[in-house]
Amino acid sequence: MPDTHLPIIACHECDLLQREILLRKGDFATCSRCGSVLYRNLPESLDRTLAFSLAAAVMFLLANTFPIFGIELQGNRMAMNLVEAVHSVWNQEMKLIALLVLITTVLIPAFEIIMMIYLLMSLKFQRMPPGANLILRMLQSVKPWGMVEIFMLGVLVSLVKLSHDFIIIPGVAIWSFGLLTVLIAAVAASFNPRDIWINVERETGREVSG
Ligand SMILES: [Zn+2]
Repeated sequence: MPDTHLPIIACHECDLLQREILLRKGDFATCSRCGSVLYRNLPESLDRTLAFSLAAAVMFLLANTFPIFGIELQGNRMAMNLVEAVHSVWNQEMKLIALLVLITTVLIPAFEIIMMIYLLMSLKFQRMPPGANLILRMLQSVKPWGMVEIFMLGVLVSLVKLSHDFIIIPGVAIWSFGLLTVLIAAVAASFNPRDIWINVERETGREVSG
């Protein structure tokens, strides 16, 4: 029997209104009409997501500071980090590509990581994160534009091609990008936006009643 004290929620897919039920740890509730997942009970998901986000921040810094790979040609070595590579592509009159790489591989992942840490840190210290509502919506809308994994794939393909003609020395950034790809996936898998909404609602309720 549904507990009438629990809130009524709408399905994201078919908009059917239904009352929430209590879940055991690890379980998830599905819509009674279309079967899509409504919410999950993931214990400690905030702490886990925060840990993955902090690790992703460190990897992001390494990935953008150190060279992606070096090329050795006739005894001369050349190495570039991502920002230098974007700059070089820009200078070769491929401004649109340079801009796309900068946005999808640097700016959006940086925004996602910083905002995630900001939200989760605030909640960790029991504070209502100002702008949480807007940030969650923005995170949702920029998500498809973060493409670190596609960039990683592109770099690997170019490395294989270049290795026929040059001696390639993998840089620190390439390993960092690999780990960053895994960590971003881990953040997405462990993040439960509902945990934030519950906290935001509770804090808002406290502010209203206080
Ligand atoms: Zn539904």
